[in-house]
Amino acid sequence: MNETNETTTDQTGQEKEPQAQRRLPRGQVTIFPNWCKGCGLCLEFCPVGVLEQGSDGRVIIAHPEKCTACRWCELHCPDFAIFVTDIEPSPEEEIA
Ligand code: SF4
Ligand code: SF4
Repeated sequence: MNETNETTTDQTGQEKEPQAQRRLPRGQVTIFPNWCKGCGLCLEFCPVGVLEQGSDGRVIIAHPEKCTACRWCELHCPDFAIFVTDIEPSPEEEIA
């Protein structure tokens, strides 16, 4: 975590305020297995590969740590079988 409040100068010599710290968005994915028909839409739309097809054809959360809470899976599920909630990042996950 960058705790400094140093100002910097741009190419014109003007002072710039330090950039506000941004946080990496993260999400927690939940699947209702009884509602999932295994169509695979959610895992096709997931841009970071959180989801995989399980041995029974239904979707499993294979890499939960990768979820960015974009909600593409939730938006495309025709059966409302998957939903995502935001996770507040820890200070260690902040980026400058
Ligand atoms: S919210 Fe986005 S990143 Fe997370 S599982 Fe769904 S599609 Fe993937
Ligand atoms: S889109 Fe919905 S029904 Fe289709 S595999 Fe994903 S969770 Fe299951």
